[in-house]
Amino acid sequence: MSIEALPELGVDLKEECQLHAESDLFSSESASEKADKLEQAANDHYRCPENFFDFNLGGQLSVHEGYFQFGQNITCYGRSCSGVRGPSVESYLYDMLTEVHVDDAKLGLPFNPTEIIDNLRLERYANVDGGSLERVLRKLYYLVRPLTNLLVRKQVQKFHARNWKKRPFPNWPVDTTVEDICSRLLLLSMEAKGVERVPFVWFWPDGASSCLMMTHDVETEAGRDHCEGLMDIDDSFGIKASFQIVPEKRYAVSPNLLESMRNRGFEVGIQDLNHDGRLFDSKEEFLRRVKVINHYGREYGAKGFRAAALYRKPEWYDAFEFAFDMSIPNVAHLDPQHGGCCTVMPYFIGDVLELPVTTIQDYTLFNLLNERSIELWKTQVELILKNHGLASFIVHPDYVMGHDTFSIYQSLLGYLRELQEKTPVWFALPTDVDSWWRARSKMSVVKDGNSWRIKGDDAGRAVLAFAKNVSGKLVYELRQAPLTTRIA
Ligand SMILES: [Zn+2]
Repeated sequence: MSIEALPELGVDLKEECQLHAESDLFSSESASEKADKLEQAANDHYRCPENFFDFNLGGQLSVHEGYFQFGQNITCYGRSCSGVRGPSVESYLYDMLTEVHVDDAKLGLPFNPTEIIDNLRLERYANVDGGSLERVLRKLYYLVRPLTNLLVRKQVQKFHARNWKKRPFPNWPVDTTVEDICSRLLLLSMEAKGVERVPFVWFWPDGASSCLMMTHDVETEAGRDHCEGLMDIDDSFGIKASFQIVPEKRYAVSPNLLESMRNRGFEVGIQDLNHDGRLFDSKEEFLRRVKVINHYGREYGAKGFRAAALYRKPEWYDAFEFAFDMSIPNVAHLDPQHGGCCTVMPYFIGDVLELPVTTIQDYTLFNLLNERSIELWKTQVELILKNHGLASFIVHPDYVMGHDTFSIYQSLLGYLRELQEKTPVWFALPTDVDSWWRARSKMSVVKDGNSWRIKGDDAGRAVLAFAKNVSGKLVYELRQAPLTTRIA
């Protein structure tokens, strides 16, 4: 599809973009000033022409945070300048959409959407570390772990995950609240400006509809010895993956194995330091360990990190010398640390790019849910693809050695392979996702005669997309691929 001109694009937007888009005045100084601005998160998500998002805060923000809705089924947490905020996600949730106003094509909002989105992505809503029972359980689990067998460990984990089905938030089995907030802001902005459609930088390179990413965390010596076999299986389905290696205590790491992984086109990442589950117990100890972890990162040539058991403390991530982290689950009802980042898209935590874990881990599927099928994985992938997100998997070489679990993994690979043949999904290594998302984060949509073009390094791989308002629904169209997708 080729769009030479955009006659239906409103005059307001055209003028705005002509005024500002190519102006360098907005790049350096004001970029950092904009960092904590209202529009930042929506801008980062879509990369529309500069100044398309134009928000006003409707008043003074409350001191206290709480839960509210932003339209049906979109749960938010944070401060607001009007309405009421609920103390828990189960309390009555006031709908802040009723507080949105349009004033001179500006969108007047009762909250700061960047702050609200940060509260979700950084799990500030969850007070994830604060539960004292949770802390005691974690300590107990790691204390008894060396002494107990798998059965006892499973019981402790099951107790921890009890009532998981009753947890109303984040949404199980995939949460897309961040994407839902961004699309609502886009629709409201289009209505405020009176435009029918707006260009943006499509989420994935070469017009791919979504992204798939396979990772393997190597837990034990047996798992390590299964890596070559796992690479053979992955290769037989035409799929490459990243292996996360525990550098200390668990098993000896031979340079030959790492070399073999890289030579075969697989990726090597760092998993924790010694996998004792204590990485984030105290800041002092974390800072001591992170130096060693960074050292291993350099030694292994690893650009990515993942913590043991998906423990995390994003506010400490600036100590990492890794390009990206892969430790934050999308929805963590069944993980040792509850919470979830409520997004299926990568996002920056300072300079570290977060590639969230968006599907259930094999261990959890097999041992906590006692599942022996790929149905849940399929459901999650379908939901993620519907939102054009990143479907990322953790499959441990250690847990797919049994006859039954191994064949389940093969079914998953078969399903993913089929998907790759049927739809334009991008099967990528974490390091490629990192490079793309970094490049995209610096791209902008600028005027080009009567049309638009994408400016920035690697813009050749980027595809211009248009968000259209079709009877109150957001529809995405790509300029270069015959793909039209409707989102809810
Ligand atoms: Zn692990």
